[in-house]
Amino acid sequence: MTSSTAVLTADLTAELHACLDKFALVDADELDADGQADMLLSMTRAESRIAAAKLTVLAAAERSRTALRSGAASTGQWAAKVINTDQAAAHRQVGLAQGLDRRIATQQALSAGDISPEHAAVIVQADRQLPTQIKAEQRDVVERTLIGKAQTLSPGALRKAARRALAAVEDDTVVVDAHENEIVADLEARARAKTRLTMYDNADGTVTGHFTIPVLQGHLLRKVLETITAPRRSRLGATHAQAGDQEARTDWDRARGEAFCELLEHVPTDHLHPKTAATLVVSVELDTLRDALKVAHLDTDESLSAGEVRRLACTSSLLPAVLGGASLPLDLGRSARLFSEPQRTAVGVRHKTCAADGCERPFAWCELHHLVAWALGGKTDLDQAVPLCHFHHQRIHDGNYQHVRARDGSITFHQRR
Ligand SMILES: [Zn+2]
Ligand SMILES: [Zn+2]
Repeated sequence: MTSSTAVLTADLTAELHACLDKFALVDADELDADGQADMLLSMTRAESRIAAAKLTVLAAAERSRTALRSGAASTGQWAAKVINTDQAAAHRQVGLAQGLDRRIATQQALSAGDISPEHAAVIVQADRQLPTQIKAEQRDVVERTLIGKAQTLSPGALRKAARRALAAVEDDTVVVDAHENEIVADLEARARAKTRLTMYDNADGTVTGHFTIPVLQGHLLRKVLETITAPRRSRLGATHAQAGDQEARTDWDRARGEAFCELLEHVPTDHLHPKTAATLVVSVELDTLRDALKVAHLDTDESLSAGEVRRLACTSSLLPAVLGGASLPLDLGRSARLFSEPQRTAVGVRHKTCAADGCERPFAWCELHHLVAWALGGKTDLDQAVPLCHFHHQRIHDGNYQHVRARDGSITFHQRR
């Protein structure tokens, strides 16, 4: 850099900051809706122009190998250090800067503040994805078409439109379709490669996990969870005993978390192989299944409260290995202990929803609770079966609550004093 250039940029920077200082004095509360929109728009344009200036510096740094001379491994690493940002973000910016170096029209549109950096990234990416045999003039046409669309489309909408960018220079829809399909298939393959799930035990009774999955399965999961959280669990104004924590019903993160737990307990493990790998085994003494207040142990070395074990004993999701006094397995097997499919169908004819008063969770998701526990000599007869949603099934096995069964079969919970 010549010294005169250095003086010039220093002067310009001072001017820019002086101008921003004046903007900081504007009282946004004093602006009417039009004024607010104007300011938002002009600041956004200015942001784009500043981003363009930043990207031209990065492109120049890449060309002049600034990183090597300052001991950094790459321009991204060098930039991350200079502006104190994450390396991944800096690398993305360098990638965009290099792309804009080749797409002059896009660079100019960004520099003029006509499009945002997000729009520019979509256009550069679309250019990279064009078939290799396409001519330079055709690339220019595609680019200009996308810049035009960026005036009205959001970056997300532009990304979708860009998959058919080839249509600007290709009349044959079959070719455009095939190219779009190739782009989408490539995206899917990269999503599969990025798929991860990590979990760690917090040692406080919870496990924290993090996952990255393809968008298809992501939407699937969201849909399932939304379906589980949707129906009301109680009437308006129901007691805490009947409806549970207010927080669990109004905090959506928590509601989704609980729905996720419910989902996991209802995964049909009998379709998975090998069966034993997907089934947790609970070791429990017969006394605990009857009425003792004693924890049981999972084969993963975790403990379960007596209430949870008794609830699980009603369902098929976990298989209790019931131990007698001499630690001998006493379980009579699922056939004697669990309700059969025909029985379940018969109960479903009588109940459309969870049996708890005011609960609208559909019967299909309910667990069949035994009015008199199998371990207490209860039979798996039809009149012993009560459909309860996951939440109310936990309630009925929770020692802190007692319940009353009305003549019509509906169940009301009360806190024990
Ligand atoms: Zn039960
Ligand atoms: Zn319920």
